[in-house]
Amino acid sequence: MQCRKALVTVLVLLSAWRTSNGQFNRICRADRHRVSPPELHVGRVQALKEDTGQEIAIPVVFHIVYNGIGQNITDQQLHAQLQVLNDDYNRKNPDSINTLAAFRPVAANCRISFFIAEKDAAGNPATGVTRTATTHGPFANDDIHFNSRGGHDAWDTRQFLNIWVCNLADGIFGYGSPPGTAEATDGVVIDYRYFGVTDTPPYNKGRTATHEIGHWLGLNHLWGDTGGCTSDDGIEDTPTQFGASTDCDLTRVSCGGLNMVQNYMDQSHDACMNLFTRGQRAVMRNNLFVHRSGVIHDKSLITGVAPEQHQLYVQVLNTNTLVVASTDPSAKICLIDVLGRTIPFTETQASEGARTLTLHGDVKGVCMVVLVQKGRRFVQRVMVD
Ligand SMILES: [Zn+2]
Repeated sequence: MQCRKALVTVLVLLSAWRTSNGQFNRICRADRHRVSPPELHVGRVQALKEDTGQEIAIPVVFHIVYNGIGQNITDQQLHAQLQVLNDDYNRKNPDSINTLAAFRPVAANCRISFFIAEKDAAGNPATGVTRTATTHGPFANDDIHFNSRGGHDAWDTRQFLNIWVCNLADGIFGYGSPPGTAEATDGVVIDYRYFGVTDTPPYNKGRTATHEIGHWLGLNHLWGDTGGCTSDDGIEDTPTQFGASTDCDLTRVSCGGLNMVQNYMDQSHDACMNLFTRGQRAVMRNNLFVHRSGVIHDKSLITGVAPEQHQLYVQVLNTNTLVVASTDPSAKICLIDVLGRTIPFTETQASEGARTLTLHGDVKGVCMVVLVQKGRRFVQRVMVD
């Protein structure tokens, strides 16, 4: 019965996308929900699997494409954004206590986590973060997905969730592509101003990415494709609402009932949002198993998914001296030059938690600081000059 319900939901969603074939038909809270024609077939939908409750972990590649320093999002912001995603998709978000009593029974832990990829598509060690200085932008027309158009090519979208961070044109906050999108443009794009956690409300708590990944996993907006009370998201436990919410009116009523303005798939302010529902969880997890199975990793096999365990700061003092600070003072550090050769150095304690690395000889250009902490590798590129 459960399986059948989910199947119906998926079919409803597919037909919704098909009717909106190929158009940018909406600007949502600033997100343009790109409704592209998924090449999905009923035959594939029948492969729908029962949700076993497995803890899923998804490898993410961040492509930071910047034109100016402010757009070059820091590693710290990347980790802050990951933390938000891991909180929201596991219902560990501290503001879950604010979920209205009426909706608490349907609030769901989706049991989906995200981690920065540590291997490339060929299985070689990699950082999972690309940084590209560009003269292009603001970005429109999918240019961000291509090296040749000033953006960055996707990593294999069957294996990774690609997230681009850049300056988006036309006031768009971000967009996420539904399952079935052409591989070259599949993934999530977030404007750098709404990425991570900042001090500038109301869209400053990383919920743009939570919302767009919801689209990437096949969720629609609560009001469906067209809005009005005859259109909805095809999910039983999210009430029908007339259209997008814009701020945080928790008493909002439309289409004969209380609206779920705290849902991540509405367009409320970031501080307002705090839940996915059980129905949304079923759709997302089913889409993962059926259409995005290449990104599924068993969370229990991924060490240190929670990014907050790691902090790594590097300061370049001169061509042969770096200061490295990390949250784990016993973590092993190595340095690698641009040709992949190990750079020898002598290590001394600089202060609590920080070490001075005196390199044996001068280094010029890019080098990578690799921190090995509890079996995980964290890499930071630095420019020595
Ligand atoms: Zn949206």
